Amino acid sequence: MHQHHSALGLAAPHSASDAIEIAKGAPLQPVTLVRPHAAARAARFFVEKFPGRSMYAVKANPSPELLRILWDSGVTQYDVASLGEVRLVARTLPEATLCFMHPVKAEEAIHQAYFEHGVRTFSLDSMEELEKIVRATACNGVPAADLTLCVRIRVSSDLSKLSLASKFGVMPDEAKALLLATRQVADALGICFHVGSQAMSPDAYAQAMERVRAAIVEAAVTVDVVDVGGGFPSVYPGMEPQALQRYFDTIHRAFESLPISYSAELWAEPGRALCAEYSSIIVRVERRRGDELYINDGAYGALFDAAHIGWRFPVRLLREPDSRAKTMPFSFYGPTCDDLDHMTGPFELPADIQVGDYIEVGMLGAYGSAMRTAFNGFGSDETVMVADEPMSSLYLQAEAPARTNVVKL
Ligand SMILES: *Cc1c(COP(=O)(O)O)cnc(C)c1O
Repeated sequence: MHQHHSALGLAAPHSASDAIEIAKGAPLQPVTLVRPHAAARAARFFVEKFPGRSMYAVKANPSPELLRILWDSGVTQYDVASLGEVRLVARTLPEATLCFMHPVKAEEAIHQAYFEHGVRTFSLDSMEELEKIVRATACNGVPAADLTLCVRIRVSSDLSKLSLASKFGVMPDEAKALLLATRQVADALGICFHVGSQAMSPDAYAQAMERVRAAIVEAAVTVDVVDVGGGFPSVYPGMEPQALQRYFDTIHRAFESLPISYSAELWAEPGRALCAEYSSIIVRVERRRGDELYINDGAYGALFDAAHIGWRFPVRLLREPDSRAKTMPFSFYGPTCDDLDHMTGPFELPADIQVGDYIEVGMLGAYGSAMRTAFNGFGSDETVMVADEPMSSLYLQAEAPARTNVVKL
């Protein structure tokens, strides 16, 4: 009954009550469910509605199957952060445009990306990085004339659930000198930022765009690209963001009012928003101790964020007939011998849940399977393609206006 990844791609989809059918097969290892239709829907939404170019931030989920789904849905640019990601995307999607958007790169990686993989777009946030890029892309001492260089500026992460504010981004008092120096060597000059992951309000982008404006005005440079980065949200318990269209409208308004030329381009680098709905996992309860459930995936598996940053994911009991017990809050222990392998949740599940029950943990397409390890001999690659809907969605509502803002199944 289980259908696996194969070299040729994914097997044909199951029908609607997929998760329960799979649980009936009593799998011993966690099973990853993938929903190509959900990823395709998210990609089409961005391609059609974002008022600029959407490039996928590969780190959120580097699965080749997902990359192909996004490509088939119209996403042609990919934000890569390492030589490994450059090679992966180049191998999987030979015609894709790659943008190397990590502000701190090895000089050798820049060189290989430029000369072997045709990468022309790089980000930076320091003079040292600019010098590296110039050196690594020169040919016989002649500087490259075809670079798109995006200066990453520091912006606030206050409106996001996961900060990206302290590691990267040039400070306002150094932005002018860096923009001027970059302008001299770049064919196209961009400004980029990242408001932090899971930005809960469009205001995060409005505020960041004000920083972009200030940087452009102060440096008085011509800017060809404004890249608003990632941070577009998905839906999780206790985190129900506004409709994505509002984010797009806010960004569009701010972009239109910047002091830039008519030909300037607007870019975004969504990661989470494109793939969160793509996958979920089915786990088994191996022990119950009061309100603590010992399950067979955890901190070293697809639930890294649940353990390490207390992220809450939607859960449901897979039992037929369904439990009639009231729900109560549970915490989880993962399978490894490590105390860290603990997820506080709370995860709302029926009070009569017991050993041997199966649970679906939803919305794990972003930063879930990407973080999985085989620590302590646990973890599994078993993947099944399904056709039912994800446990929540920001896109179902957008396609069927009669429904409420957030659809929970
Ligand atoms: C992680 C990252 C992204 C994607 O962020 P999401 O919050 O998943 O949308 C985009 N751009 C850069 C530079 C990143 O580091």
